Amino acid sequence: MAEQFQFQAEIQQLLNILVHSLYTDREIFLRELISNASDALNRAQFEALTNREMHDAGAPLEIRITADEQAATLTVSDSGIGMTHDELINNLGVIARSGAKAFLEALKDKNGTTAQDVIGQFGVGFYSAFMVADKIRVVSRSYQPDAPAYAWESDGGNTYSIEPAQRDARGTDIILHLKDDAKDFLREWTLKDIIRRHSDYIAFPIFVGAEAEASNKRSALWRQDPKDISDAQYDDFYKMYTLDFKAPLHRIHMRADVPLQFFALLYVPGSGEQNMFSPRKEAGLKLYTRKVLIQEYNRELLPEYLAFMQGVVDSEDIPLNVSRESVQATRIMATLKKTLTNKVLSEFKRLLKNKRETYEQIFATFGRYLKQGVAITPQDRDDLQDLLLFPSTRSAAAGEVFTLDEYVERMVRMQTDIYYIIGDDYASASRSPHLDAFRQRGIEVLYLVDAVDTLVPLGLNEYKGHKLRNVDEADIDVRDIGEPQQDAAPQPDALADADFGALRERFKTLLGERVRDVRESKTLTASAARLVSDEGGAQRNMFRINRLLDREYELPVKILELNPRHRLLHNLSRMLAADARNPLIDVVAEQLFETALLQDGLHPDPAAMAARLQVLMQAATGTPPGELGLAAEDAPES
Ligand code: ADP
Repeated sequence: MAEQFQFQAEIQQLLNILVHSLYTDREIFLRELISNASDALNRAQFEALTNREMHDAGAPLEIRITADEQAATLTVSDSGIGMTHDELINNLGVIARSGAKAFLEALKDKNGTTAQDVIGQFGVGFYSAFMVADKIRVVSRSYQPDAPAYAWESDGGNTYSIEPAQRDARGTDIILHLKDDAKDFLREWTLKDIIRRHSDYIAFPIFVGAEAEASNKRSALWRQDPKDISDAQYDDFYKMYTLDFKAPLHRIHMRADVPLQFFALLYVPGSGEQNMFSPRKEAGLKLYTRKVLIQEYNRELLPEYLAFMQGVVDSEDIPLNVSRESVQATRIMATLKKTLTNKVLSEFKRLLKNKRETYEQIFATFGRYLKQGVAITPQDRDDLQDLLLFPSTRSAAAGEVFTLDEYVERMVRMQTDIYYIIGDDYASASRSPHLDAFRQRGIEVLYLVDAVDTLVPLGLNEYKGHKLRNVDEADIDVRDIGEPQQDAAPQPDALADADFGALRERFKTLLGERVRDVRESKTLTASAARLVSDEGGAQRNMFRINRLLDREYELPVKILELNPRHRLLHNLSRMLAADARNPLIDVVAEQLFETALLQDGLHPDPAAMAARLQVLMQAATGTPPGELGLAAEDAPES
């Protein structure tokens, strides 16, 4: 008697889309089934080598695809690990694949996009076969010695059934009853063509029909001599391996004999998003030993900051039980990691030197990882620091970036420190009042305007003997470094000490706890005010990371610097002297302070300035202060 089951709701949804799909690239279903078969074979191979008891231990590891013209069925068979009764329920009744989940999410998010537009971009796995079949029967016999064979069956509706079945050999048959419009897939040459394009590098032989020769090359590309491999072959391998649409940005193919013998073929992916949607569900390298896949996603062979790399590592020296902890395995893995890491970093350095454009593209896509590495992997900092790129006050646009070395080369005569400004983006940082004095003296300032840039000074407070300093540090006096280069427009005289003192007190009373202090600026020219920090440490910018991560954060409290030469301050001082109760004084002072917050990306709620700006515009266009609706009595006596 067959047992009946309901599919999990998400699968019902997925099936409903796939069954009615008009997707033109339906042939990808074969790639998905072959990929599942290959996984099952890998696991069988692994079980066999770690000598567990297994059913049908001597069966050859292979995939067979047979078409039955009469019955209009296509069968994909493998001698892999198989599935038990419970595994059929757990694997083919609930959603396993992150690609399938991402697919459903994408449909939810992108109103208007149809399934057709996005199916191919996600690995929807086994269920994609319902694009071409109106009934699927899965007959499977597990490798576990006492597990009998079972058959799973569904017509793509909301239910499936399971019943005992006959299958003596270990493995799985996926039997597709093809839809009328999918009979094409019964033709052998069509099948072989699809295999060649999508599954050529599958490690196990794929036989079509009665043919004795496998339809796929199966070559372990990484074991071949680079001289014999074309760019197209490298790219094809990458695309088949990751199902990424874009070609990789770069590849590193290496073999080594000492201290360990191994092969590695590593890729820098074509785009940064690829990991999210790729059928490769996680980050990590494929790890082979003696051509046997022992780990699909290995994260121990490269440091966290290179986790974006894709590829294959194959070494005769890795013991099969690498996943279980053994001293020997740990030592070999550590050596491999070191060799691979050095190779990738030196390759990046070579690109930076000889193929700047390629490297800039890599950095634009994955630089965030390297910046994090600077902060959290101090032992690799010396290598990583040379790979960092930042825009600066010398850039013509945000995309023009420089190394720290290039910065140091260009330092002005008396300069010993490296200056940077932290901001929310290139445009706002480049308008910051902090830069007044630096620009005047031709001192370059780096823009740390990517959210993760905040992390860089945490790990890097010095580069080759030059301190890295934030331009908002209160004790930086650019006058020590040099005189203004070109004669800027002559500055008005500074306010008299007494006048400035009165103004300063007014600001202090008004702003209270919101500032640590109010003081005179020695260097501001074009700007009326700025905020500086007397707290040392890069830590105070951590709020930017917390803000990015939607965590709670506290804005730092800073010192307000006023420019005593600025027109605005002169005017304000005059207003104060004429009538301390003029309500406009506080409105202007408040706006000056909030503008400085805004310029540093510190304003918690810029829209809240709108009402005040309206009052100021009214005053500027002629409304007398008394008629602005401000309560004069509230203004403190000075
Ligand atoms: P994924 O392969 O990404 O996990 P699928 O929906 O394609 O997602 O398959 C779900 C699960 O069904 C697999 O994880 C695997 O455990 C099992 N499975 C699918 N095909 C086979 C097969 N040919 N042999 C053994 N198990 C299989």
